Amino acid sequence: MRNTTVLISGASIAGPALAHWLIRYGFAVTVVERAPSLRLGGQAVDFKGETHRTVLGRMGILDDVRRLQTGGSDQEIVDADGRTLAVMPGEFIGGDIEILRGDLAHLLYERTAPACEYIFGDSITSLTETGDGVHVTFERSAPRTFDLVVGADGIHSNVRRLAFGPEEQYVRFLGHYYALVETGLDFGEPGKMYNEPGRMVAVGGPKAPAFFVFASEPLAYDRYDIEQQKKLLDRAYAGMGWRVPEVMAAVRNAREVYFDSLSQVRIDRYSRGRVVLLGDAAYGNTLAGFGTGLAVVGAYVLAGELAAANGDHRVAFAEYERQMRPYAKIAKNGNAGAFLAPATPARIRMRNWTFKSGLLFALLMKVTDKFATDIDLKTYPATVG
Ligand SMILES: Cc1cc2nc3c(=O)[nH]c(=O)nc-3n(C[C@H](O)[C@H](O)[C@H](O)COP(=O)(O)OP(=O)(O)OC[C@H]3O[C@@H](n4cnc5c(N)ncnc54)[C@H](O)[C@@H]3O)c2cc1C
Repeated sequence: MRNTTVLISGASIAGPALAHWLIRYGFAVTVVERAPSLRLGGQAVDFKGETHRTVLGRMGILDDVRRLQTGGSDQEIVDADGRTLAVMPGEFIGGDIEILRGDLAHLLYERTAPACEYIFGDSITSLTETGDGVHVTFERSAPRTFDLVVGADGIHSNVRRLAFGPEEQYVRFLGHYYALVETGLDFGEPGKMYNEPGRMVAVGGPKAPAFFVFASEPLAYDRYDIEQQKKLLDRAYAGMGWRVPEVMAAVRNAREVYFDSLSQVRIDRYSRGRVVLLGDAAYGNTLAGFGTGLAVVGAYVLAGELAAANGDHRVAFAEYERQMRPYAKIAKNGNAGAFLAPATPARIRMRNWTFKSGLLFALLMKVTDKFATDIDLKTYPATVG
């Protein structure tokens, strides 16, 4: 087999899921993660439909994922007095199987760590393609050459920047920001969601951290400065009703904050030479609940095609692109911001109505299921669980 050494940047979901398959196919895998240790934060993420279940089954982790699932529950949309206006059913929020992102990341890491090399607290600083490999320099580790490099390092991908060009060329801001904050408050079950035009807060339920989505002009901020992000949130949620002042007081003391824009990735090709993108780095994350399923299916296809092509990256990357591009269109075109934080009172009422009308809700679920299953999964050499 050709191209047997693979460097993956990013140890969240896409990176370790790819490592899982590459190890099984006999590749030597190194994963480099910028954070000093595995990042376990985030809400619950979900898997929907037959395709996601099949891939988890073939990975041999479906039972573990089921064991760890949160058992997704309904969420009440409340008014300023806490009265229930509508109920978002658990099947809509949590898909078929809902699992805390941190639990899934940990499971994938645990399964792969004994058979590959994880480097935490480091980041790639340059990629130079030579005839038969990619010469890589790092912030801390010594330079090395790998046959192939995979950017599984999220929407602000470092690999995409180094191999394809600056983020501004590929990432399109969708007019909303979101944040996940460990507040330590207990709002119990079911979870509650409260809207005012252009702003949403969700608390309680199995999706533990408080969840914020708000409409905004582009904001200039440091992605690694949590205190600055708390101030931006504070400003965005000033004067909001219901129990939001109580939530915001807890945000000011929070130690963990995950703050990002809702953005699409628009890129003509997922690969350039020996470098390929996977997960949010390639498809984007529009918060429509598809990011994790896409990452896991993408990892399955990319590794499977590399194995099927005997390591020939040209053949494998082209086939990966052919299969994944149409499947990932929901991430490229979707925008959950307007749905979660509608801009006007009328739009909030219309959104709530979706959950009261059996017909509209059934339609919404049908569309969701179609996006999750719209790919013909191939069977690859070592697919058996
Ligand atoms: C801490 C965290 C919390 C999240 N919470 C939610 C959530 O609540 N709901 C939701 O829908 N989605 C959440 N996401 C996003 C979700 O994980 C993805 O949409 C989806 O699972 C696809 O994952 P990914 O592995 O492609 O990208 P991501 O999950 O974004 O992971 C990218 C990884 O690359 C790492 N990385 C970044 N830069 C570098 C670099 N220079 N070098 C090496 N590594 C780098 C990051 O630290 C991260 O571990 C979260 C992501 C993270 C990292």
